[in-house]
Amino acid sequence: MNKFENEMKLEIVSKSNNEAFARITVAAFAAQLDPTIEEIADIKTAVSEAVTNSIIHGYENGEGKITIKAKISENTIYIEISDLGKGIEDVETAKQPLYTSKPDLERSGMGFTIMESFMDEVKVESIVGLGTKVSMKKKIKKESLNPINEGDSINS
Ligand code: ATP
Ligand code: MG
Repeated sequence: MNKFENEMKLEIVSKSNNEAFARITVAAFAAQLDPTIEEIADIKTAVSEAVTNSIIHGYENGEGKITIKAKISENTIYIEISDLGKGIEDVETAKQPLYTSKPDLERSGMGFTIMESFMDEVKVESIVGLGTKVSMKKKIKKESLNPINEGDSINS
């Protein structure tokens, strides 16, 4: 691992209280890339949607473990959220805007669409009965427009 790489792994039980914990933890990890407030908000929202899906759909509010991995390489963050829940029968359909299998529970079917709009890439792998893994990636665009700030990070 070179000096521009770093990684973390977090395992939570599928309780909705832990969703905020997971999203804040990933945001804190991402902070070392010096993201803008907006970039941090995008990452938090995407993590929140994926973790909520594992809790509500993967484990249907029952017990289970959710694994959150994040990796930084150069100026890109890679995030993986996986569960060992019920899985998704048809991933392409599930990713369609407004598709939800739980319309009765005030779900809008926009989770995957939100992840796709806030992150650069979203990949969903799922096997029915085994679980689901969502892999996302986002490049943090350093505002090196202002040369005065270059190499002058408050984090160093
Ligand atoms: P919203 O996110 O707007 O509250 P939603 O969760 O139904 O609604 P998406 O997040 O886009 O919408 O997910 C679409 C569908 O994909 C879900 O309704 C569910 O059927 C399926 N799904 C998503 N994540 C998982 C998962 N981890 N395990 C099992 N099924 C999932
Ligand atoms: Mg959702």
